Amino acid sequence: MLVLICTLSFFPTFATAQAKLDRQVAITIDDLPGGMANNLPAADVTALTTKLLTTLRDQKIPAVGFVNEKRLYKTGEVDERIKCLQMWLDYGFELGNHTFSHSSLNQVGLRAWEDDVVQGETVTRMLLAQKKMKLRYFRHPFLDTGRDLLTRQQAEAFLIDRGYRIAPVTLDGWDWMFAGLYEDAKKRNDAPLQEKIVKEYLAHHDAEFAYSEQLSAKIVGYEPRQILLLHASNLEADHIGELLELLRKRGYRFITLEDALGDSAYSLPDTYVGEEGNGWLEHWAITQGKIPQGAPAMPQWVIDRTKELHLSTGQVSAQTPAP
Ligand SMILES: [Zn+2]
Repeated sequence: MLVLICTLSFFPTFATAQAKLDRQVAITIDDLPGGMANNLPAADVTALTTKLLTTLRDQKIPAVGFVNEKRLYKTGEVDERIKCLQMWLDYGFELGNHTFSHSSLNQVGLRAWEDDVVQGETVTRMLLAQKKMKLRYFRHPFLDTGRDLLTRQQAEAFLIDRGYRIAPVTLDGWDWMFAGLYEDAKKRNDAPLQEKIVKEYLAHHDAEFAYSEQLSAKIVGYEPRQILLLHASNLEADHIGELLELLRKRGYRFITLEDALGDSAYSLPDTYVGEEGNGWLEHWAITQGKIPQGAPAMPQWVIDRTKELHLSTGQVSAQTPAP
């Protein structure tokens, strides 16, 4: 009888907790017009952009795409590549700056990095102006925010001075790593391998989301409006719908980056500096003197295959074109 009473009293509480679950996430997509854009013909970049944006538009998902204008400059293809950026705006999305050549603040030094930020504005600012929009968001390449606090603060002051709001990241499943393998499998028409990669990509993101939700509760005290980092790739073009479904199953609804940045979590103290780029949950944790633990590991076969194909594993990130 006692057990029955306990059970009965437990259920209403549980139901209330479930009903209150209102997770929010903003989608951001880096390395426009495409992370592998240097290796893909413009027609392929157009095809993947169309597919990616059609899914997002049909499902009414707000998104900001972050541009590396260097990826526009391929002989004979500049116009078509610029049209890919134009498509983002025509479909109702927004563009931000991700520097011209994807340079790491931790590698090139402040002055060269600032030049790269400015050089990255030219085409994007013009396209936005035609839509009466302003260039207002910036995303650090490799999430490298500076290897010492002075550099970090000077870089941030520079960005603010140029009218930018920094776009942090709180959810990151390293999709670019799966995207490299997927590109190779797709090129070779290896359907079973593509399927295996997609399954792993979804499972890894699910684990990463669970980890970040727990870390949020521990560090922030609640789950803030999250900001998810993805990359423009054939993997996302073909499968972002499944990732969005996975997020919905976890209780997420999709909000704008502007909405997400309204969460007071993004004003938490943050004095993180390091050689390696990191997400903002980790920034806040380390600022609080806590070491984040239990992040899901990248599956070993993904790491091995990435090495076999001589793609970036993120360990030598600044020397290689991805992520
Ligand atoms: Zn990037």
